[in-house]
Parts: sequence; C-alpha cells; structure tokens
Amino acid sequence: MAFEIIFLGTGAATPTLSRGLSAAVVNINETLCLFDCGEATQMQMLRFGVKKDRIRHVFISHLHGDHYFGLIGLLFTYHLHHRSNELHVWGPSLLKEILEIQIKTSVPNLCYPLIFHDIESLPDGTICSEKSFTVTKFPLKHRLPTYGYLIRETGRCGNIKKEFIKQYALDHETIKQIKEGADFITPEGKTIPHEEIVIPTRQHSFAWCSDTAYFPPLIEFISDADVLYHDATFMKDLQGLADEKGHSTTIDAALIASQARVHQLILGHISQRYMDLESFVKEAKSVFQNAEIAFDGMKIKLRN
Ligand SMILES: [Zn+2]
Ligand SMILES: [Zn+2]
Repeated sequence: MAFEIIFLGTGAATPTLSRGLSAAVVNINETLCLFDCGEATQMQMLRFGVKKDRIRHVFISHLHGDHYFGLIGLLFTYHLHHRSNELHVWGPSLLKEILEIQIKTSVPNLCYPLIFHDIESLPDGTICSEKSFTVTKFPLKHRLPTYGYLIRETGRCGNIKKEFIKQYALDHETIKQIKEGADFITPEGKTIPHEEIVIPTRQHSFAWCSDTAYFPPLIEFISDADVLYHDATFMKDLQGLADEKGHSTTIDAALIASQARVHQLILGHISQRYMDLESFVKEAKSVFQNAEIAFDGMKIKLRN
C-alpha cells in the first residue's frame, strides 16, 4: 500500500516565491486527503503533480486565512471541471457559513455533493474512517480554536511467512484471501488464525500540527507517529514572540517530537525572516535528531 505525503505550502502568514501557504496532501492507495488549503494551493498542486480529482477529504485546522483562503478556489475549479464525486470538508463550524456565502453569490449550486463536517461538534478522537485509513482530530493551542489531525492507514497486511507458503504449497488465490484478512484452514481441517500466518506490519501515520504553541496535551494523539509536521515559526531567541502569537519555536517542536517518540519531525510554518536554515535545523536537532525543515514540494514515501 502506498503512503505518500507531499508538502505544498510550508511558509507562515504571507506567501513568498519560495514558500506557499499551509497545505499538505496525503495519498493512501490513490485516495487523497488535503490538510489545510492556503491561498494558491491549487497552483502548488499543479507544480508538484498532485492529482486533485482524487482528493476525497479536506481537513482545515483553523480559520486564519493562511490555512483556508485557497479552499473556495479549489471548490469552484471542481465545479467548472464537472466533478461528480462527493467531497468532504472538515473544519470549524463557521467555515460552513463562509463557504455557503461564497458559493451562493456565484452559482445556484455546486454540481457535486459537498459534505461539510463541523469538527467542533465532534469529540476528540477518530472522526473519519475509510477503508484504508482513519483520521483523528485533537485540539491545539493557538489564538483561536485550532485542531490537529492524525491520519493512520488501516488494514494493511504484512507478507505471509515464507515457510508457511512452502509448507502448504499455497496457491495464488489462497494467498490473496489471506492478504485480505482470511484465516487458513489446513487440509486436516485445523484453522490457523490470520495473525499467525502473516508477518506483523506497521500501519503508517502522519500528524499535521500547524499553528500551535507548545502544547503537551496533543502528545497522546500523535505518539509513535511516523511523521510529525509541527509549527516551528520561530527560533528559540524569539520564544516570547512565539508565545504571544500562539506559535512554536524549533525547540518547542523538537520537544513535542521527542516526548511523543515520533520517528521523524518536519519543521513547518517557517517565518520568512529566516534565511540561514542550517542554524534553524541545527537548533531543533539539539533536542530531536531526526528533524528536517519542510520545503514546498517535499515528498515523503513511507514504506516498511
Ligand atoms: Zn493561525
Ligand atoms: Zn498560520
């Protein structure tokens, strides 16, 4: 199963030529989920080869413009391209009103089903379950209600133990059934549970925590994630400014990554004041070694 993350916009507040505004897309088996949709996210999709018609869910973290001003444009592109598949938009309750005003002033109706989910009315935890993944939401700490998301693949089956295939001379069809979750019944009629036949495998996960101050309560939701994208708007010397603005520093992000024991930290929402990115990442690595700075177009493929 493919699990690929593409970062589309990694800058803070206003766009620059090198960094667009917040957005990342996750592709799990050719179903795409978009996390935030800052201004010009559509252009970034074109630049980086994202198949936008395969986006089924859009998750918006909060209603600061740099995280959702690109959404209405995307919705209208789908309309103009005669989309027919449903699109699920998840976000704070006010987003529904904002979108409805923008839509009704332009067209009587969109030509495809737009299904809005008010995340504020849903309890923290799993909010979305699809065949190959689930999405969990949890609160962040920012200047207005803001949510993080964790997407985790489900149902991925590991390889069947080689000795087992040999012992029972499994044919192609039986292997396929086991891979889909079936137990195996031996010629003698004994049932061998699926879990004893396959090699345990990791269900990959990605956490999107854009725009938050240092906030340890989020750790329980993201622990052991493969990849954590975390707000790192400032370096440590601007801790006061970070606290005032509800953002994190490199050190804040690295502490969360370390405490949550994630595998990889991607620093994002980078203030445009930083040119010396070497010092920036070095500071984070002093706390959490496996840290990198996000860049627009950065792709991460998770494999076993
Ligand atoms: Zn914000
Ligand atoms: Zn922001």
